[in-house]
Amino acid sequence: MNLDAVVFVDGTDGFHSDGGGTSRCRVLVVGSGPAGASAALRLSRLGEGDVIVLERLSEAQHRRYHSICGEAVSDRAMRLAGVSTSHVLRRVSSIEISMRGSPPARVKVRGSIVDRSAMLEEMLGASSARRVKGAARSVRRLPEGEFEVETSSGAIVCDVLIGADGAHSVVRRDVFGTRPERLDPIVNTVVPGKPDGVLRFFVGDGVPGGYRWEFPSGEGSMSVGFPKGLGSVPEGAEHGARNIPTGRVPKAWEDGCLLAGDAAGLANPFCYGGIGAALLSGRKAAEAAVSGDYKGYGGWVDRDVMFSRRFMEAHRQFEKWTEEDIEDAAKPLAGNANIFKGLVAMARRPKFAKVYLACWMGFRVGW
Ligand SMILES: Cc1cc2nc3c(=O)[nH]c(=O)nc-3n(C[C@H](O)[C@H](O)[C@H](O)COP(=O)(O)OP(=O)(O)OC[C@H]3O[C@@H](n4cnc5c(N)ncnc54)[C@H](O)[C@@H]3O)c2cc1C
Repeated sequence: MNLDAVVFVDGTDGFHSDGGGTSRCRVLVVGSGPAGASAALRLSRLGEGDVIVLERLSEAQHRRYHSICGEAVSDRAMRLAGVSTSHVLRRVSSIEISMRGSPPARVKVRGSIVDRSAMLEEMLGASSARRVKGAARSVRRLPEGEFEVETSSGAIVCDVLIGADGAHSVVRRDVFGTRPERLDPIVNTVVPGKPDGVLRFFVGDGVPGGYRWEFPSGEGSMSVGFPKGLGSVPEGAEHGARNIPTGRVPKAWEDGCLLAGDAAGLANPFCYGGIGAALLSGRKAAEAAVSGDYKGYGGWVDRDVMFSRRFMEAHRQFEKWTEEDIEDAAKPLAGNANIFKGLVAMARRPKFAKVYLACWMGFRVGW
């Protein structure tokens, strides 16, 4: 299959205008992905009753957009985000990474494959926020300090604005004028397979594009992800592509405005885990919207190990590795990897230490 023909669902098709007029609310959440749904849920639980969640996609488009995903999320992230779901497809017990065909290194983890769109529906349904269909087109700050968001279905004026509008965030563009360091277009396809509780990553030559993952999915199926244009989709397989932004923005807050999830570039550059980051940052953004401590939110994003800039530094270093480096780095970690093995590998191969550490931390706290 020609991958240039792979459907990209980041586009703006499918919007429709519901008419004009100006609405008002205290908190406006733009986007109802993991970050927006988590923010809406937390706002409700904190008793904030005057909330609008703005979503550009129809229900069917939303389901499709959010099904383009490996759907793996760690127990740690779910716990910290205060989210539970009845839509778990499978438990995850380990991550395996195979570098350039060498025997895989295996790390024990705890997490799940979730039915992401059903989980989002569950979260949004449990929140008391008003859900408005429309696409944010532009944002401006009014002289009184409020925000006016021009949408495809009229304007919305709010005291507090949460930008949870993903990789191509309009809130980020208009309020902050920044963007994450990278936008990697990734294809996800669902193929028949024997799913187990393992998230598998393959790195190095021999893997088209140098990177691929295979995750368990529903009954009898696996979800496979790889960079767009590199790798192939079996004829007839369900598939789609989206951008994953990584390398977080310089600043995720202004007075009255907060960025969460992909809008802030919070996904992990090593494992591309972004659901947990979105759930957690959505929750924290909601708390800041209620308390008014916007700066505190910014400080939390800067300090939290999940979003450490060291991940991106290590990733830049990793990209310079030769195939021989990859092979050499893989050797000491084959089999069950643990802290002790990792420390020995770092001591013996100090030039790989940053990447070893970032991988380890990524698998522990980055998803
Ligand atoms: C192929 C692929 C596989 C992935 N697999 C995993 C995985 O297994 N585990 C993991 O943790 N992460 C994974 N990720 C990353 C994860 O999907 C993202 O990091 C996560 O979705 C970010 O959530 P979010 O709510 O910030 O943004 P999004 O999920 O992008 O949600 C943004 C929402 O905002 C809406 N929106 C956008 N613009 C506007 C607008 N202008 N007006 C109104 N609404 C708007 C969108 O329609 C969407 O509903 C994967 C990503 C890709 C591309």
